[in-house]
Amino acid sequence: MSLQHITCITCPRGCSLEVDVEAQTVTGNSCPRGAVYGLAEATNPVRTVTSTVRVVDADGEFVDMEPVRTAKPIPKGLMFAAMKEIDAVRANKPIRRGDVLIPNLLNTGVDVIAARDLL
Ligand code: SF4
Repeated sequence: MSLQHITCITCPRGCSLEVDVEAQTVTGNSCPRGAVYGLAEATNPVRTVTSTVRVVDADGEFVDMEPVRTAKPIPKGLMFAAMKEIDAVRANKPIRRGDVLIPNLLNTGVDVIAARDLL
């Protein structure tokens, strides 16, 4: 039996979970959301990626930085590849919050979207 000790980050209470992946059981959770989080974190951890994209003018000159995030969490193991992909992108104004700047990031089916208006 291999137990994993995980802190639930679903709410500020931060319960200490013990997850048994083989038995698919979670203890230490104060509510059902902790069991769902604990099993997911132990088997397929995911994270929302936040970063910035360089915004350039028509000549390719740097203008500003645009904060971006993945529209949904992606597998934690893809974090570094995702950051590299985001770093390589250049965007042009105008940008509206929610605009897709990278569709289907790393074939995850998840888009990278703008987090603010930059008009
Ligand atoms: S188990 Fe429930 S109460 Fe505890 S941190 Fe997670 S969401 Fe919050």
